[in-house]
Amino acid sequence: MPKTLIEPFRIKSVEPIRMTTRTERETLLEAAKLNVFKLRAEDVLIDWLTDSGTGAMSSAQWAAIMIGDESYAGARSFFRLEAVLQDITGMSHFIPTHQGRAAEKVLFTAVCKKGDLVPNNCHFDTTRANLEFNGVEAVDLVIPEGLQPSLIHPFKGNIDLARVEEILKKEGHRIPFGMITVTNNTGGGQPVSMASIRAYAQLLKQYGKPFIMDVCRFAENAMFIKLREDGYQNTGIKAICQEMFSYADGCTMSAKKDGMVNIGGFIMLRSDEWLDPVRNMLILTEGFPTYGGLAGRDLEALAVGMEEGMDESYLRYRLRTAEYLGEKLEAAGVGFVKPTGGHAVYIDAKTVLPDMPVEQYPACSLCNALYLEGGIRGVEIGSVMFGRRLEDGTETYHSMELVRLAFPRRMYTQSHFDYAAEVIAEVKINARSIRGVKLIKQPKFLRHFTCECAWA
Ligand SMILES: *Cc1c(COP(=O)(O)O)cnc(C)c1O
Repeated sequence: MPKTLIEPFRIKSVEPIRMTTRTERETLLEAAKLNVFKLRAEDVLIDWLTDSGTGAMSSAQWAAIMIGDESYAGARSFFRLEAVLQDITGMSHFIPTHQGRAAEKVLFTAVCKKGDLVPNNCHFDTTRANLEFNGVEAVDLVIPEGLQPSLIHPFKGNIDLARVEEILKKEGHRIPFGMITVTNNTGGGQPVSMASIRAYAQLLKQYGKPFIMDVCRFAENAMFIKLREDGYQNTGIKAICQEMFSYADGCTMSAKKDGMVNIGGFIMLRSDEWLDPVRNMLILTEGFPTYGGLAGRDLEALAVGMEEGMDESYLRYRLRTAEYLGEKLEAAGVGFVKPTGGHAVYIDAKTVLPDMPVEQYPACSLCNALYLEGGIRGVEIGSVMFGRRLEDGTETYHSMELVRLAFPRRMYTQSHFDYAAEVIAEVKINARSIRGVKLIKQPKFLRHFTCECAWA
């Protein structure tokens, strides 16, 4: 058997990349105030800012787009997607939304109240924000291994069951439901084992609490289970997904991830207990229950994408892609969160810039260096994103300085990854010439999106 795992698709439609020189990129980055979010996408060679809604749709999805039923109520496209989702999740009630955070907003507003508490392995930032906006405390209870970047563990997204039980005992009256995020995006795209999901579900049941899963990357999680968990080697991906969903009472999904579409999301619920308040919120903020903020064609594309996202050869290639880049970084002496996750590689900037003081934002500086050296756009997950400027003008800093390279689905080929690995290795060799940054203008919330920087 040849050992190269090829992309399991051919390319039918292409989008040119505009080449730029380093000198041009210096001018472009300075015009963007040293913040890659402010660059125009056409000035980026390899855009690994996010895997959310950025992937390539298949010819079958584009064909499905053409048969979308745009009827306001009772569209055929709704029923087609409903049947697909009922089959995968085993849950009866399908509530479409325009993306993941809308699903969160609708569900949380309908069923949570001020003073509540929701446990999770790690809440994604929009999940946390939507809970906190409703006055709900969002508690992260990932296992301790999940917080150590270089430690190898097969399921670093698992939830710490002892701490869950403790909180159920002490704060049970405040808990409307328990959540788990597969894969754990905030914790490096790390998977959750079936055993952890099953045990967590049992614990919640014992305390009479519903179990809601954040399933944005359910298919990637299922592939990790197949590869790493005893007893699943010969199980099909769909059957693994069906078992995962069988433990839950409901789920929220951003279809921009494993739904393989550019926009979309949904809630699924097993019982009709919450259905009325959820549908009422949906009508108020998203749309009529059979389209929920999406066009009929979006529902069709998602019906096809949900199945394609579970294709085993696609998933094998998908996980291998991240692993492949990880191997090249290892060889170049660049540290990263290990093992590599499903959708991204998280570079540990402190291993490239060990001498740069945190006041100069090493992860942001590395992010800028990757753009200057090779036109690669990643995202800083460090002190620009999570640090704060306090009232007295002092700063707080994040414990980790990471640069996330997140891979759009079915978009970049192996030579793009080879190129990126060369760029990163080159940046590491010339690390001494990387300049730090200082923040010169920042908004009050989510400052990483729009802040302005200058060379330190
Ligand atoms: C992307 C994401 C969301 C939010 O979905 P959007 O479609 O971006 O609104 C929620 N949870 C997780 C784990 C995600 O990755």
